[in-house]
Order: sequence, then structure tokens, then C-alpha cells
Amino acid sequence: RAKDAGRNRYCFFTQTMNDELRRHQLIISELRLSLAHQEFSLYYQPLLDSQSGSIKYCEALIRWFPGSGELMSPAEFIPIAEKSELISKIGEWVINEACRQRAEWKNKGLLDFRIDINLSGKQFIHNDIFSILKRALAKHHLAPSEIGIELTENVLIHAGENNLLNLRKLHEAGMQISIDDFGTGYSSLSYLRHFPVHNLKIDREFISGSSHNETDRSIMEAIVVIGHRLGLKVIAEGIETEEQHRLAQRIGCDLEQGFFFHKPMEADKLYTILTGM
Ligand code: C2E
Ligand code: MG
Ligand code: MG
Ligand code: MG
Repeated sequence: RAKDAGRNRYCFFTQTMNDELRRHQLIISELRLSLAHQEFSLYYQPLLDSQSGSIKYCEALIRWFPGSGELMSPAEFIPIAEKSELISKIGEWVINEACRQRAEWKNKGLLDFRIDINLSGKQFIHNDIFSILKRALAKHHLAPSEIGIELTENVLIHAGENNLLNLRKLHEAGMQISIDDFGTGYSSLSYLRHFPVHNLKIDREFISGSSHNETDRSIMEAIVVIGHRLGLKVIAEGIETEEQHRLAQRIGCDLEQGFFFHKPMEADKLYTILTGM
């Protein structure tokens, strides 16, 4: 009997795994179709100076509007896309679209501004990201300071020599590099010695916990101290309330981003906010 139960359970897990695999394959083929049919779009969320409240730059966040099928957040479909070669294609689309948008705004007279792009781990590790970014910038007549990149801690941990070299070249060229979701990944800080980065984005988890959790507040404060001692800017992401904004301001976060200020929005809407037109 026990053996039967065990066997059944084994079958159950296998079936579930097959279902998930099938679902992922389905999503991957839908993503592939959507890439061909231009069913992606970039939304933009501003980052504000904590003291003055003015918008300094923005982060591009991909949105998928499939002609048919379910709506899905990038937090769900990006990791699935990472299981295939598709992540490099989606990633390149994001880079080119962000550059195109930055150039469009520049041509309309918006000068000192930057769009930061999220790079997925696979995309960063398996591609010559320096050449890809350089080509995209050149195509749209942009300086490296007009586009920035966000990488998570875990990606940096798994980076090889070539990746590190690419990062150095981007840094030297004047591109801003941020560590996203800081504090949730690998806990060793030693990698900060090796990687040329400019900004730490404190993960939303600590910000949302800070309202009721003393430890989360302490972690935020510690990140600000470490970041500043290393000469980095510290960003609080996921600011949803006035209280969280006040805390971020008080402990010395340089920049803030979150629904309290603005949700991610279409390019035209951000342009209106930026220019008052
Ligand atoms: P992320 O880079 O850490 O982006 C922040 C996420 O938090 C975004 O979700 C944003 O909409 C959301 N957010 C911003 N402010 C608030 C807030 O105040 N409260 C709450 N609850 N959420 C807030 P989104 O756009 O769904 O993206 C999720 C994740 O998907 C991103 O996390 C990033 O890891 C990934 N992602 C998004 N766009 C891209 C992309 O173009 N390429 C790659 N590789 N990954 C992307
Ligand atoms: Mg990000
Ligand atoms: Mg983040
Ligand atoms: Mg995140």
C-alpha cells in the first residue's frame, strides 16, 4: 500500500512537471509570435530626487500585450523566456526600443535625461552586452550617459571574466550601472569591490516591511551607510506611502521610485509630466 501511494505520488509530481513544461513551451511560442508581431511595449517609471522631488531619470519596464492569451507580468514571463534563446531577442528588443524612445525625446528637446534598462541574467552572461549596447547607442546617436542598466546581485555573482570586462568598458564609457533588488540576493558584499557600479536599489521588500518591522528599517539604514561609504547613490524602490517616503528621505536615500509618486506609464504620458505639455 505504502509503495502504491509512493508510486502515485511520483506519478503526480511527474504529471505536474510535464504540465508546467508544456505551459512554458506554450508561453515561449506565444512570446516568439509576439516578438514578430510587435506585441511588446515599454512603460516608464520615474525616479525622483529625494530632497527636491524632481524627476531625474526613468526605468523602462516591459509590458506584453498578446493578441490572444493571458496577460502576464514580466516577473513571470521573463524567467520563462530565460529558459530559451528568446531572452536574448526580447532583451535586444528592449535595448533598441529604449534607445529609440530616448532619441525621440532628445529630438523633442529633452536633454539631461536617462532611461535605465533591466538586463536579465542570461542576457547579460551569454551575450556581448558591450557590443550590443554600443551598436544600439550609435544607431540612435546617443551618448552612453543617456541609457543606464540594472542588474541583480545574483547576476554579478555568476558573471565571468568577459562579463566583468564588458561592465568595465560600459562604466568607462560613462554608462550608469545599478544593482537592482539590492539586499535580497547573495549576502556577501565582497563583489562590490570588483564591480564598477554607481547605484544600489534597495529592494521593495525592505521598504514595504519598514512600516512595521524595525529590522527592515535597520537594514535600509545600513545599506545607505555602506552605499555612501563606497561612493554609490542609494535608491529606495517601491515607495507606496507618505510614511515610507519620509523614512527614505530621513535616512538619506538619494533617489526614490514607487507608486506613491508614479506608476509605470506610457512614454507619451511621462513626456507630458516632464515637459508640462
Ligand atoms: P524590477 O526591475 O525590480 O522593477 C520594479 C517592479 O516593481 C516593476 O514591476 C514595477 O512596476 C514595480 N513597482 C514599482 N513601484 C512599485 C510600488 O510602489 N509598489 C509595488 N507593489 N510595485 C512597484 P514590473 O514592471 O511588473 O516588473 C517586474 C520585474 O520584471 C522587474 O523588477 C524586472 O526584474 C523584470 N522586468 C521588467 N521589465 C523588464 C525588461 O525589460 N527586461 C528584463 N530582463 N526584466 C524586466
Ligand atoms: Mg529594475
Ligand atoms: Mg527592482
Ligand atoms: Mg524586483
